Amino acid sequence: MFTSPDLPAVTVLGLGPMGRELAGAFLGSGLRTTVWNRTPGKGRELAERGATVAGTPEQAVAAGELIVVCVVDYDASDAILRRDEVSRALKGRTVVNLTADTPGRARDTADWAATHGIDYLDGAIMTPAPSIGTPEAVFLHSGPRDLFERHRSVLEVLGGTHTHLGEDTGRAATFDIALLDLFWTAMAGYAHAVAIARAEGVTAGELAPFAQGIGAILPPLFEQFAQDADSGTYSGEINPVTSAASTMAHVVEVSESHGIDAGVMRAVEGMARRVIGLGHGADGFIRVAEVLGRH
Ligand code: NDP
Repeated sequence: MFTSPDLPAVTVLGLGPMGRELAGAFLGSGLRTTVWNRTPGKGRELAERGATVAGTPEQAVAAGELIVVCVVDYDASDAILRRDEVSRALKGRTVVNLTADTPGRARDTADWAATHGIDYLDGAIMTPAPSIGTPEAVFLHSGPRDLFERHRSVLEVLGGTHTHLGEDTGRAATFDIALLDLFWTAMAGYAHAVAIARAEGVTAGELAPFAQGIGAILPPLFEQFAQDADSGTYSGEINPVTSAASTMAHVVEVSESHGIDAGVMRAVEGMARRVIGLGHGADGFIRVAEVLGRH
């Protein structure tokens, strides 16, 4: 294996499916890479490719200039980073935490890092593990911009795009949470649609091309609704909430006629009815975002 003298040695803490891909991408670019995982054995393949498998997280940290953390959540990353011997080893080094969690946990970790003399960037990965090292990977970062710029070339080894979202450490997690909200509610909608279609004798395969058509309608709607939401116009000319709510009621009726739980669509219809009840029935569906934000 060749190693790159121009790029710093890196350490990856956490070797789940994502951590393994990250370490693999660093190795593939010739970076001296040290890995550690709580449960031993997961670094075997990486070791065959040239990685050093550390016996403890503090040894792993001591071997790298840039420390990338990617574990299940911040309880896990705290359990690793906040041990005294690890915090001491981290002093003067840079941590890039690519673990997913909440904006509050990200900010709290940044505060903790600052009090321990550790440079800290938070991040989120918006694409699946196999995208790492390819142009499809999407990384979001937040924290000190100069720190991001200093490490940008190493991070870019992981492929895809790297967007610095701002100095507020919670920004990457905020985007992550909002986008996960979108993803999981869309997936719940898709799973529910398949259940209804099957109850009516339609296979998921038959539905799929038309489901993709619905997916294709969404990007331009996101664009238009973003303008509406940011300007507070909520134009409902094409599809007012009153009309949308009646189609939601049909979904509830058919679901329940088959004994299929309609809780998700009942919640969606409830939001639409609330908008109508507040006198905004002529507005577009995105008025829901404004109403949900009222306290
Ligand atoms: P997981 O989310 O399943 O995380 C597994 C890793 O977390 C393992 O290294 C595991 O160690 C470690 N871990 C869990 N609890 C602890 C603990 N208490 N102390 C120390 N280590 C712990 O796997 P992924 O690799 O897939 O995900 C890592 C992060 O990347 C997550 O935040 C995830 O949301 C995010 N992500 C993942 C994507 C994917 O496609 N996989 C896509 C986008 C983001 P052990 O082996 O010992 O259990």
